[in-house]
Amino acid sequence: MAVESFFWWTEEQKELSNRLEKFVESNIELADKTYWAKEYPHEIMNQISQLGLMGVAVPKEYGGIGLGSTGCCIVAEQLGRLPGVGNLFVISMLAGLHQLLKFGAKEQKERWLPQIAAGKTLGTICITEPFAGSDASNINTTAELVDGHWVINGKKRMISAAGIATRYLVYARTKKDDSDLEYTNITAFMIEKGTPGFHVEKINSLIGYDNIPNGYLDFEDVVVPDENRIGGIGSGWEVMMSGLNFERLIAAAVVSGSMIDTIKFLLHYTDRRVQFKQKISMFSNIQMDIADFIAKSNMVRLYTFYTAAELDKNIKIRMDKSSIAKLYSTEWASALGLKGIQIMGGDGLTKFYPVERTLRESKIGEIVAGTNEVQKLIVYRTAMANRKNYKYPYRIVMDPEMNIPVQSAKESQFRDIEINAENILKVLADDYRCNPGLCMTINDLMACTNGKKAAIIQAVKELDEMQLVYVYKSEKGAASMVKANYEGLRKAFPREYYQWFPKGYDGDKLF
Ligand SMILES: Cc1cc2nc3c(=O)[nH]c(=O)nc-3n(C[C@H](O)[C@H](O)[C@H](O)COP(=O)(O)OP(=O)(O)OC[C@H]3O[C@@H](n4cnc5c(N)ncnc54)[C@H](O)[C@@H]3O)c2cc1C
Repeated sequence: MAVESFFWWTEEQKELSNRLEKFVESNIELADKTYWAKEYPHEIMNQISQLGLMGVAVPKEYGGIGLGSTGCCIVAEQLGRLPGVGNLFVISMLAGLHQLLKFGAKEQKERWLPQIAAGKTLGTICITEPFAGSDASNINTTAELVDGHWVINGKKRMISAAGIATRYLVYARTKKDDSDLEYTNITAFMIEKGTPGFHVEKINSLIGYDNIPNGYLDFEDVVVPDENRIGGIGSGWEVMMSGLNFERLIAAAVVSGSMIDTIKFLLHYTDRRVQFKQKISMFSNIQMDIADFIAKSNMVRLYTFYTAAELDKNIKIRMDKSSIAKLYSTEWASALGLKGIQIMGGDGLTKFYPVERTLRESKIGEIVAGTNEVQKLIVYRTAMANRKNYKYPYRIVMDPEMNIPVQSAKESQFRDIEINAENILKVLADDYRCNPGLCMTINDLMACTNGKKAAIIQAVKELDEMQLVYVYKSEKGAASMVKANYEGLRKAFPREYYQWFPKGYDGDKLF
């Protein structure tokens, strides 16, 4: 078996993965040819449609296979082994499937989901514009309600499957004002190929995606019925984010498939290349490098399929989970492409072998669907929104018996002291012993002393007036952090109080 199953997959999901392995093997040659010829892989995409795979995550009631996010990731992973094909699958899935399932009205589901399931329509998503990239809320394409119909005007760019796709999920601004409410003025529309006024403007020549056209779209007075609006007026941001979340997860599965095959190729290659009278696979640096990527590919798979399983169990997953999957899958796949080339020497640089392609395609992955920097922002902001999960529950304090710094959750020796400037200075000066470069927050002081906030702030104010502390103030001018300055330290305790030496540094070695 080329791609391992996970123990929690259902029999149907395992069978799907096995079946797809044979499909991949019998189509790899054709996929390679389309990639070289820079031609859209029509024949393979038709077969995928006929097998019903475009409907893998479409519920059975709408003609799909109904294998959920896990099924979708299984298909994506296997198709990710065919150049371009996995990405086309993702592009089409993200262009409305999840958004329709979550935000679509019943009639909209009945209209589009059976078409998606039957593979009769290839979709793509249209967010990016000349002036709106990472800042996706800054879109300028407008949608104006005229006589009950929407009139769309604007340009989109970097759109995958431009011209080939038949179904375009377009995000447009539905209110023309400069208010700060950028996020609430966006609305999603499904626009079909052939709608008057809707044109492809340009096709890009890219580093990769050789068999997937990518280009600019122009919308000139394109009239769209209100029935094509997905979600509420002004709720486009929510629709977009939820779609991107799903996309990033299945995109990670595509990358997983490509990583697995790249590793297999490298093992094959290094067992056949002889230098210094030995197979280069015998060199330990090459073994270490390949082992590193085997480990990373395992991590990508595990994280991706675990997150998919959570989605299928209706566990509300945090947005950062699919960002993490996308971030590390693409970053590690790019690193694999780069290292793979190095492992193969000059051969790695030729297009006769598939490894340079791994690098080119993964580099795209690091930018598409939100750059990896944006994914890191999402991860950080999600952590900040769930700050309590990351609360450091200890203080670094000097253990009175062993006179060593320890992490402690115990009550401070200063608990319940009277709150006045003198005592607060002592707390700050004592903190200097272990945390000489750090301020204490007002909350830290409250936790330490069990004192009231107002009283602590008053004491800090007095210390500030006496120039015994440095006070870090918030934008509004309120004291938020404080530390004892040189004068403050001198006033609080004698110099000896702060001295601390590791064993062996006592006695006459020091002055
Ligand atoms: C092959 C390909 C296919 C694509 N397909 C589609 C598609 O089908 N539909 C679609 O809508 N879009 C598509 N895109 C567009 C893609 O989503 C954008 O390219 C991407 O979101 C980045 O936008 P940008 O290219 O304008 O870069 P910019 O946003 O201009 O970013 C430039 C640099 O600034 C950094 N940066 C930006 N903002 C921040 C910040 N706040 N903090 C830190 N760093 C920041 C970025 O990380 C990047 O390094 C595709 C792109 C590619 C390459």
